[in-house]
Amino acid sequence: EKYPQTIELAREVREIKKRSIDELKDNIKIAMESLEDNGINVHFAKDGREANKLIYDLIDGNTVVKSKSMTSEEIGLRNFLESNGIEVWETDLGEFIIQILNEKPMHVITPAIHLTKDRIVEVLQKEINSSSYKIQEIVDEVRKFMREKFVSARVGITGANVLSAETGSLILIENEGNIRLTSTLPEKHIAIVGVEKIVYGLSDALKVAEVTWRFAGYKMPSYVDIISTPSKTGDVEKVVINGMHGAKEVHVILLDNGRLKAAENDVLKEALYCLRCGACMYECQVYQNLSGYWGENYVGGIGIVWDYITKGLINENVFCCLLCGRCKEICPVNIDCAKINRWLRGVTFPNLNNNQCNERHYNCSVE
Ligand code: SF4
Ligand code: SF4
Repeated sequence: EKYPQTIELAREVREIKKRSIDELKDNIKIAMESLEDNGINVHFAKDGREANKLIYDLIDGNTVVKSKSMTSEEIGLRNFLESNGIEVWETDLGEFIIQILNEKPMHVITPAIHLTKDRIVEVLQKEINSSSYKIQEIVDEVRKFMREKFVSARVGITGANVLSAETGSLILIENEGNIRLTSTLPEKHIAIVGVEKIVYGLSDALKVAEVTWRFAGYKMPSYVDIISTPSKTGDVEKVVINGMHGAKEVHVILLDNGRLKAAENDVLKEALYCLRCGACMYECQVYQNLSGYWGENYVGGIGIVWDYITKGLINENVFCCLLCGRCKEICPVNIDCAKINRWLRGVTFPNLNNNQCNERHYNCSVE
């Protein structure tokens, strides 16, 4: 209510995302050139296996701090690094709880949404050796516990909410402050970014970011990070030296993993507009009952589509969608999950008559 312009801004963001996906190949090329011009090392990974290997090869030492990133979940990055002897610390509180429990995130922005306060207290008490039952005291203790990890890690891994191709800038939205620490305290910062996060200009990218945080439920987030170059100083005879207080080396891994193919598909490409704000999940009756158990890496109606794009995964989950269209109503970029899920059913059962449904679902998108 305080920012009524958000609705109009969301309409504009849909157009920005549409244009960006239509021009995805060009935008990738421009982004790679701009990032390199800025002194950032750019890598292109065609799939998760390639991205994991690239990241593993870039790791110095054996401790890594990491912020929450659905793209890293998609490629199973933490498990891959841990199985190769790297100590990985999830620094977002919710994701840390998920890591301790060896579970999967149950929501794109609130990974531990399925756990009660009492269960979270029990889990954290054990992990950080605390005897407190007060959530504020436990949070203070996790903060202290995690500080040591930030200081000892030589590599920090983050995702990004949006990338401006023109200026080679990553934009990251957060509330905890862990992304700032993850991307600046270690000497090396690695960002894993799905190519669909690229938009052309910085002003477009900021609009995407604003709509993302509003629909994620925040009037304003605590922090918005814009990272365009490694940390640097020009204070000695105007000579630029990297690595003053922040990361000396920055690497961006641009991940395809099915996105480029999806961008060519008239139905699927709309899913690439997704901002990962999570608004649709709160609105969906099926998600409210199944939570993150509905979907593999990604969750909810949009998650079913993303599991298909990134893993070719298709199973009974696609039949859980009620095709009610509520998610489209709430989605800032009006993604029609019902329509895409219906199309996916046709992929699963080519003989299914897509027009056999005679029920009148709310806002039904069946033509
Ligand atoms: S269309 Fe499917 S995913 Fe969207 S709200 Fe309805 S049941 Fe949920
Ligand atoms: S589908 Fe729409 S509402 Fe759901 S996470 Fe993506 S952008 Fe947000």
